[in-house]
Amino acid sequence: MSNKNDAILELYTSKVMPTYAPSLVIAGGKGITVRDPDGMSYYDFTSGIGVQSVGYGNKKVVEAIQAQAAALTHCSNLFVNIPATNLAAKLVDLSGLGGKVFFCNSGAEANEAAIKLARKWGAANGGRYEIVTMRQGFHGRTLATVTATAQAWCQEGYDPLPVGFAYADFNDLASVKAAINEKTVAIMLEPVQGEGGVTPATDEFMKGVRALCDEKNLLMICDEVQSGMGRTGTWFAWQGYDVKPDLFTLAKALAGGLPMGALISNAKLADTFTKSAHASTFGGNPVAAAAALAVIDVIESEKLLANATKVGAVLKEKLQEFADQYDKLLDVRGKGLMLGLVVDGDPKELVEAFKAQGLLTLTAGQNVVRFLPPLTLSEDDLEDVMDMVSDALDCTYGE
Ligand SMILES: *Cc1c(COP(=O)(O)O)cnc(C)c1O
Repeated sequence: MSNKNDAILELYTSKVMPTYAPSLVIAGGKGITVRDPDGMSYYDFTSGIGVQSVGYGNKKVVEAIQAQAAALTHCSNLFVNIPATNLAAKLVDLSGLGGKVFFCNSGAEANEAAIKLARKWGAANGGRYEIVTMRQGFHGRTLATVTATAQAWCQEGYDPLPVGFAYADFNDLASVKAAINEKTVAIMLEPVQGEGGVTPATDEFMKGVRALCDEKNLLMICDEVQSGMGRTGTWFAWQGYDVKPDLFTLAKALAGGLPMGALISNAKLADTFTKSAHASTFGGNPVAAAAALAVIDVIESEKLLANATKVGAVLKEKLQEFADQYDKLLDVRGKGLMLGLVVDGDPKELVEAFKAQGLLTLTAGQNVVRFLPPLTLSEDDLEDVMDMVSDALDCTYGE
């Protein structure tokens, strides 16, 4: 059978370093679906790993990109570009923290910037530099951010890792307290752990970390690279808790599919990065910034925060019904449209079965199937998808 997917895959495998192991070529996308080069269509409940939150080919986003590409594709940071300036104002406004923004190009870079800013502040505030991060967390793949990522599979082979990180158990305040010493400057966490298993922080934990930071003069850093931009039903997941971080980071869904990262501070840290203290050639790219402004406009005008909460609750409930039915399905957890189905065994088996039905999902941690559909998902779309889920479960775990 001649098939374009396999031909492209062969070229890919022979020329691209094998850090990923994909089997499907994606040639295009529309709304909540993608298609391979042979015309097979899939519901994309990965959203390109939480990126395409307003769906593929969103008209407003495409038009914003096209218009900005024609006007100005790049502007160095020696000059001011208008879309990035407007986006900074918008993000500060949405955060309510009264601070400022530093732009970069990815999640790892945004977290790297947060780590550097925390150290810079710590150097001037008691000579402190150590950052406490959570086990099962994920913060990126640069040397500092793999070190912040307290997971062995991410760090193996990369010694010596930078010093200045200590690890604690997520949702365990006593463990965080025990990891703090006189060198500690910050506590960094994902309000909902994504890669590690779609685990939301508890209210008590978020409040406890905030109180601890206040008590010991530490910075609270929220990594919102996956959970941000409406994914959990609020602009930023920390807004779903009654706390405010000192710093938080964004990337994945920020710019509608274009690479962009951002570090957002509160008022206290707004001027910690002084002139030349940090920089990025492409940071604040005008096309990415124009796309991000369009994404925010779409989220606001289509009321996608409320939609994520509403449709997320329906999806969670339907998954819970399956979990009640199958012994192999242990739990359903998450917030908004960031959901995890905990399975007894390897989640890859189920992800493959979903794919065979025409539904793309992700794994997370050791035993979780992760659902990150576009925030534009409707209850009507869900009906078709739930039939696929039902068939896949029957194939995989049925009698
Ligand atoms: C994906 C992710 C990152 C890394 O982002 P990149 O853009 O791949 O560098 C960091 N933190 C979290 C929570 C993520 O989900």
